[in-house]
Amino acid sequence: MATLDSLKRALRQTAKTTASSPKQPLSDTQYGVGFDILVQDSGCMAYQDFIIPQLSQLLSPLFISRTHISALEIGPGPKSILGHLPAHLRRKVKRYTAFEPNGLFATRLEEWLCPTSEMKSPLPCLDGPPDIHRVPFVLKDTIVNGNNTGDDEDEYDIILFCHSMYGMKPKHRFIERALELLVERPQGGMVAVFHRDGALHLDGLVCHRTASFPSGVVRVADDDEVLDCFAPFIAGFIIQDVDVDEAIRIEWRKVCRALGRREEAHPDHLFFSSPEVMAAFTQHATTLPELTAQVPLGKDQAVKNREARLYRPASMIRPTEVRHVQQCVRWALKHGVGLTVIGGGHSGHCLRPNVVSVDMGAFDKVHILTAGDDGGDAGSDSGSDSSSFVVAEAGCKTGDIVRKAMAAGVTVPLGARPSVGAGLWLQGGIGHLARLHGLACDAIVGVVMVSVETGQVLCVGHVPSQHRPADAVRPANEPDLLWAIKGAGTNFGIVVSATFKAYTAPTYLTRNWVFPLSDNLEARLRLSDFDKLVARKLLRNCSADAYLYWDAGRLHLGVTIIESSTSRSTFETFTPTPVGATLGPEDAFKAVDAVGLFETEMYVSGMHGGHGGGKTSSFKRCLFLKSIGEANVVDRLVVAVKTRPSPLCYLHLLQGGGAVGDVAADATAFGCRDWEFACVITGVWDRAQDGTEAARSAVRWVYKVAEELLSLSSGAYGADLGPDPRDATLAAKAFGPNRPRLARLKYSLDPRNVLAYACPLPKALMEQKVVILVTGESCAGKDYCANVWVSVFPKCTHKRLTARTVSISDATKREYAATTGADLDRLLEDRAYKEQHRPALTRFFQEQVRQQPRLPEQHFLDAVYGAVDVDVLLITGMRDEAPVAALSHLVPDTKLLEVHVQASKQTRQTRRGCHGSDDNGNNKDSSNNRSNLTALDYRPSLAFANDTAGNEAAERFAEQHLLPFFHEDLQRLANMVRPIPNFPRPDIEFRHVLGISQQPGGLALCTSLLETHFIGDWAKVDAVACCEIGGFVYASALASQVDVPLVLIREAGKLPPPTVSVIKPPSHISSLASNSTKEKRIEMERDVVPRGASVVVVDDVLSTGETLCAVLQLLCKAGISAEDISIMAVAEFPVHRGRELLHRRGFGRINIQSLLVFGGA
Ligand SMILES: Cc1cc2nc3c(=O)[nH]c(=O)nc-3n(C[C@H](O)[C@H](O)[C@H](O)COP(=O)(O)OP(=O)(O)OC[C@H]3O[C@@H](n4cnc5c(N)ncnc54)[C@H](O)[C@@H]3O)c2cc1C
Repeated sequence: MATLDSLKRALRQTAKTTASSPKQPLSDTQYGVGFDILVQDSGCMAYQDFIIPQLSQLLSPLFISRTHISALEIGPGPKSILGHLPAHLRRKVKRYTAFEPNGLFATRLEEWLCPTSEMKSPLPCLDGPPDIHRVPFVLKDTIVNGNNTGDDEDEYDIILFCHSMYGMKPKHRFIERALELLVERPQGGMVAVFHRDGALHLDGLVCHRTASFPSGVVRVADDDEVLDCFAPFIAGFIIQDVDVDEAIRIEWRKVCRALGRREEAHPDHLFFSSPEVMAAFTQHATTLPELTAQVPLGKDQAVKNREARLYRPASMIRPTEVRHVQQCVRWALKHGVGLTVIGGGHSGHCLRPNVVSVDMGAFDKVHILTAGDDGGDAGSDSGSDSSSFVVAEAGCKTGDIVRKAMAAGVTVPLGARPSVGAGLWLQGGIGHLARLHGLACDAIVGVVMVSVETGQVLCVGHVPSQHRPADAVRPANEPDLLWAIKGAGTNFGIVVSATFKAYTAPTYLTRNWVFPLSDNLEARLRLSDFDKLVARKLLRNCSADAYLYWDAGRLHLGVTIIESSTSRSTFETFTPTPVGATLGPEDAFKAVDAVGLFETEMYVSGMHGGHGGGKTSSFKRCLFLKSIGEANVVDRLVVAVKTRPSPLCYLHLLQGGGAVGDVAADATAFGCRDWEFACVITGVWDRAQDGTEAARSAVRWVYKVAEELLSLSSGAYGADLGPDPRDATLAAKAFGPNRPRLARLKYSLDPRNVLAYACPLPKALMEQKVVILVTGESCAGKDYCANVWVSVFPKCTHKRLTARTVSISDATKREYAATTGADLDRLLEDRAYKEQHRPALTRFFQEQVRQQPRLPEQHFLDAVYGAVDVDVLLITGMRDEAPVAALSHLVPDTKLLEVHVQASKQTRQTRRGCHGSDDNGNNKDSSNNRSNLTALDYRPSLAFANDTAGNEAAERFAEQHLLPFFHEDLQRLANMVRPIPNFPRPDIEFRHVLGISQQPGGLALCTSLLETHFIGDWAKVDAVACCEIGGFVYASALASQVDVPLVLIREAGKLPPPTVSVIKPPSHISSLASNSTKEKRIEMERDVVPRGASVVVVDDVLSTGETLCAVLQLLCKAGISAEDISIMAVAEFPVHRGRELLHRRGFGRINIQSLLVFGGA
């Protein structure tokens, strides 16, 4: 698929060779028709998927920090992009100026901004009419007649170039001109540029942020008339002579058809690749000389990745001293810009356009320390059983470290290629010793790094004293930092050196087999035998890799088994393994040392004539698989290889298990430990094809295979994932259960997002907030109620709460409108129109979810992260069943509530008659026609009966039931929960919930909150049940307060018979403390509570939910119906998904309330 840029070049070339007649620019009408073809249909996707979200994210902080915004837009076309921002941002725009030289566009823009009908203006709060200049925006020194940019005094908060930089040369001068027009106070403004076709060379300017959308595509109808309008628009001219023009257009149609790609699903269309970039600049854009005057410059040879080399960084700095790295960080912090870091230069994101990159290549020393060499101070990692350490500076490559270490008789478990750099060990590091010694990051015991929060040099963990810089300090959050460095280390600071545990250097025996495969059946058989009979039977000192590749017209399976031994004699006789019986005699074997091992890799030495002759480029993404022998996995792997776009693409399956899985998922940031094979999907193309369609299609293949394998995988490897939006779904599977903790650490350790282009982590919420999911019956008045409640929060007495309501279905509507051509504005605003599209919209959403099962979660997170600026977010349009149970772990610091709005059938019918439905086309209850609470298989947090007209009842409900969640007593209670780092195990931050009772007034406060937050009627409660020990403390005080008998649940054998008992797995915290997985029995006296009684279970903590499940099973066994039970917990840890467990085990209809919510362990 050609890019629009290459199409332009081809069209111009054709015009040049076909005729030499004079050209003329397009008329406004011709330009307008071409533009409409471009932006309709698929062009919209770029707006919806990239431009609008990027712009909203970029401008939100700026808009929120000001009471009003003045905007200048250069070449907006017929509609301003600002009109597509969320309503709360649009309402801030008080002044709008544009330069639009196309007269037709200018008129359409004016009409759009100032509609005469009852339609609302997209910028409804403008102080005056928009100021639309029907002339181009030009440089100051080219202004001929008077002032071109309006009043000289005019200043703007934002200036936008959305696809309008094409004719501007040199582009950086136009940005500089725009920068002069930005407001200076209070914090300056921003210039944002969107540019199609990727490359935007703005020499010398440093951007505040940049983003790319490489998968943008333009779809054009394959129709003579359409192409006759489209081609001149892309070429940028027509020919004066009418006959020649006609002849050229016929040639141009051919060019379009030759270069455009056809897709089976759209046989009548041509597709062109249209990558987009965004770059945002502030007044700091011109401050590069301030940095380059202090630090040495580098050269781009440091970068191995040839795709990355296509980017033009603002500058490449090559620090030679730690203070240079500090200067880079301090400069970045001062000017609010990001940095990239270059280690081995193998990833695609070590360079970004208009971003300063810091090449660590000069830090290239390796130091080997044997016992006693470490200055006698084992630092905070004295637990290491290794007596030797390797200190590697961050510019060292794998080969450097392995070679130097080997000379001293030791080694570090690193990766398979010698040229790979620090990115490997900071993000994991899978190599042939991983089964024996773990990942490379597991061997890290300490680092020296430059903090991107402060610019200080930090010493973290065990760093031998002679390798600690004199000014290095130990950070307060040292355990967190060391934890994060081990697997997600590229996001938290610039690492200067790492100290590794060293292991005795082994020698290796490598054995290779190659099996041609005739069909899927044979592939299944071979891979299954390889997995079950070979790989899984190997000792830890062996690792078996498999390669699936196409060679000589056939699919092949290559197998390499690498056996390591620290005793040379081992290899004189082969270790008896089951390998021979299953694989037969090997094709080749070799005994090598660690350096020789680099050359024995099958893809270097065997496949495709030895790495395609070496003159290739590659692109990789890696997923973790638990089994590669299952038929469904094999079939996908085989299809992947069969559909490879270029001959050299292959799949590499690296064996894991062993020591990799010995480490608990949450013990290091790496997180994904439960896998047997890392499947590296490797797209390979000829180096001469870098930057061409061949390279792009190999990259597309890698992402497609990754997407197809994702549902079968147990995680994704974070290394190589970067700012490419296609990485987002993979990044969501990286780091296992550690994502929320990483999000919080990123927020605290890199608060200014200096390392903005490393592996994407989820954004942490600013503060604990409340998110209310407003669900309910069709036409019950959910949107209405949500709007009433939003207005109640700011009236809250002790602090002015900010609140907003969003519909989660808006994202679906946007995508639906873009795909079907439905009118988005009407879908969002016009009830009747919305109703008409409801069935199709529902089908569309269901199909989307079929293809992307995690889409609802993504929409939810987008809604939450899009509202970090408010205290309360109300979300309507939820589809999920039991949404609090399903979603709370995604926002573990957030109090997530569901308020179910009900109305009688009659009320709903009346409302439907008046307005159609108030649903937004995406409503769970409307789709399955549930009419009341009893039809749900779970219990929402609260229910509101919305049968009376007017706001009063809804307001009262909010005051009585929602405002209490903001009562300052809850905050007081939260403040009594002491965090205790490294308890009961290192890396765990324990929240001492039971400790509330040891604080003065703590038990009384907690009791009173439990009493008042109970949503039922205490007079109807027959017993308060509790399980030792945390539950006893809070339940007894509460039972006494509400004068209800207590039911005690204890370990078996402690209560007098007759009793009922059930098995209880260990609680989360006791399993952490003792690593015990032993189950116990718990019991209660059989007749202590009458059958059919109403019981409130009280516990101190809800975490995994196992204890509560056991208590509920016990109560059920004692004759208490689940319908008659409620749960109250003092604190909840949503990350452990306790609610989900209760729901899964059939206790979803029990109301659960927790006073406090804590993220983390
Ligand atoms: C040919 C090849 C073979 C590979 N083999 C293996 C393998 O056997 N095992 C394996 O696990 N992986 C392997 N990988 C994947 C490899 O781990 C990643 O590509 C890794 O990101 C490369 O690191 P780098 O330093 O070479 O690249 P870079 O692009 O320089 O860095 C990668 C990331 O690390 C960041 N970074 C680098 N240095 C620092 C620093 N000092 N401080 C903070 N951040 C830093 C960069 O900013 C970037 O985000 C391989 C990749 C390739 C291309």
